[in-house]
Formats: sequence, C-alpha cells, structure tokens
Amino acid sequence: MADIKQDGFKRVWFITGASRGIGALIAEAALADGNAVVATGRNAAAIVERLGESAALLPLALDVTDEAQARKAVQAAVETFGRVDVLVNNAGFGLLGAVEESADKDVRRMYDTNVFGLLNVTRAVLPAMRAKRSGHVINISSVGGYRAAAGFGVYSSTKFAVEGITEAMHAELKPLGIHATVVEPGYFRTDFLDASSLLVAPDVIGDYDETSGAVRRKAVEMNHNQPGDPQKLAAAMVTLVDAPNPPLRLALGTDTLAAIAAKNAYVTQETEAWKALSASTDFAA
Ligand code: NDP
Repeated sequence: MADIKQDGFKRVWFITGASRGIGALIAEAALADGNAVVATGRNAAAIVERLGESAALLPLALDVTDEAQARKAVQAAVETFGRVDVLVNNAGFGLLGAVEESADKDVRRMYDTNVFGLLNVTRAVLPAMRAKRSGHVINISSVGGYRAAAGFGVYSSTKFAVEGITEAMHAELKPLGIHATVVEPGYFRTDFLDASSLLVAPDVIGDYDETSGAVRRKAVEMNHNQPGDPQKLAAAMVTLVDAPNPPLRLALGTDTLAAIAAKNAYVTQETEAWKALSASTDFAA
C-alpha cells in the first residue's frame, strides 16, 4: 500500500471518460480506496450527476481530442491536489463494420479519440510525473488490442496503436520511476455496444454478411449482456496500482484469456510453419 501523503489522499488519479461506464466505476473505486480523483469528461455536469460532490473529487470538462483543454485540465489537477500519481486513459469508443465498410470520417473520428486523444492527455500529464520520478500510466486497450477479428478491424487497429504506444512507454518511463500498463478488457457490461456509444458503419456490403454481418447481429444480442462485470474491472485497477511490480499488460476477463491463448498458439504454429522462408532473407555471413 502506498504511503498516505500529507494531504490525506493515498494517490491522485486522473481519469478520462469518467462520465459513465468503466471510467465512472474506476473513479468510484479509487474514491472508496481513499484517493483523490480528477474525473474528466466531455460534460462536467454529467460527472457531478454520476459521482456526486466531495473534497476528494475534481470534476473537469475534457474532450480528449482537444489538446489545449487537456493541458488546462492537468494544470487544474496539479493546482488542486499538487500531483497526478495515476493517469487512466479510458475515453474511447468502438466502430463496428468490416474494414471496407468503415468510412474515412468515422475512422478518423475514432482515431482522434482512441489514439490521438490518449496521446494528448499523456503528453499533458507526463511532465508532472517525470518531475516527481513516480507515477503510473494505465491505458485502456481491449482484447481487440491483442488480436483483431472480423467486424472490429479498425477499432482493433486503434487499440493495437495503444498497445504499441504503451509498450514503448513502458521501456522509456521505467528508468524514470514511472510504470505503464496496458489493460485488455474482454466484453464488459457498459454502454460500449449501445447506440449511445458504438458507431455502426452505415454502409453494409452483402459479401461480409457471414463475417462482419454476423458480428453486427451478435453485438445487438450482447448489448448489456456482456460477461464482464465492470465493477470488478474497476476494483482490479485499484489492485493494479497497489502492486509493487505492475505488469506491462493486464488481460481482464476469461474471454480475453481464451483469445490471447488462441492467438499465441496461432502465431507459434504459423511462425514455425514459415520459419525456413522467414530465416532466408539475411545477407550471407
Ligand atoms: P462507455 O461507452 O460506457 O463509456 C465511454 C466513455 O468514453 C464515456 O464516458 C464517453 O463520454 C467517453 N468518451 C468518448 N469519447 C470521448 C472524448 N472524445 N473525450 C472524452 N471522453 C470521451 O464504454 P466503456 O466504459 O466500456 O469504455 C471505456 C473504455 O474501455 C474505452 O476505451 C473502450 O474502448 C474500452 N473497452 C471497453 C470494453 C467493453 O466491453 N465495455 C471492452 C474493451 C475495451 P460521453 O459520456 O461524453 O459519451
């Protein structure tokens, strides 16, 4: 357990997308654990409505696609609580459709939030963490960040980006005393698959009916019936931050564990099958 700092707060958390879903639940879990929380979202009033008011909570307006707003929010966080110990880059949404069905404007909108937004907030927070030579950056990826599948190809590509960014940050920040972890939830019961969050590609191409089309139908069935309990995910974040040696990757949910095992087995088998060609391209010694 971390030392309780002079202000009485165990740590100061900065969470994006805290108006609902996983972000709001992580905020609640962190508050219940004796932390101060800077809960940010596109609509600050929605955060107050969801999380209430307390001295430990600073609700702030932050659309992660707005870099200037990200800097202002971090400045307000440091002015209020003196530090940011934990950054949770949680804000994000999905785009459901085959790669070819996904329109340029939707793809760009999703990258603006899931990738460029995460980078905006990360660049705003890291100077304060580097100055203290401590901190923990938690980037919410997905099972889709480890393996892509039909119907969620472009969404998965944003989370592959998050995985690559986090893996490099893990190497760059470790010598500076800062942890970086990428979290890979499976299907968790939030608004993620709901029309209030999920963007469904409007252009349907019949040839993809058995692949992307099947996933479109499954998503309707699964909406608000997902196996993952987001409250337990939130509790896991508190456990993660308390760990003396936090992992680079944290898979969450038995569906993610199964997907990772299947992908690892596939990669091992395919790499072995093509090893001779793979090993044939170096200059002769
Ligand atoms: P929800 O749809 O319930 O919540 C998404 C949150 O992200 C909302 O608070 C939303 O704010 C916020 N958000 C979206 N765009 C922006 C933006 N530009 N700036 C700031 N906030 C934004 O989904 P989840 O809670 O499930 O999703 C949270 C994270 O978890 C996402 O990154 C998602 O990709 C990831 N994830 C979720 C899984 C699941 O099954 N639930 C599985 C794997 C990963 P607003 O209220 O304003 O719309």
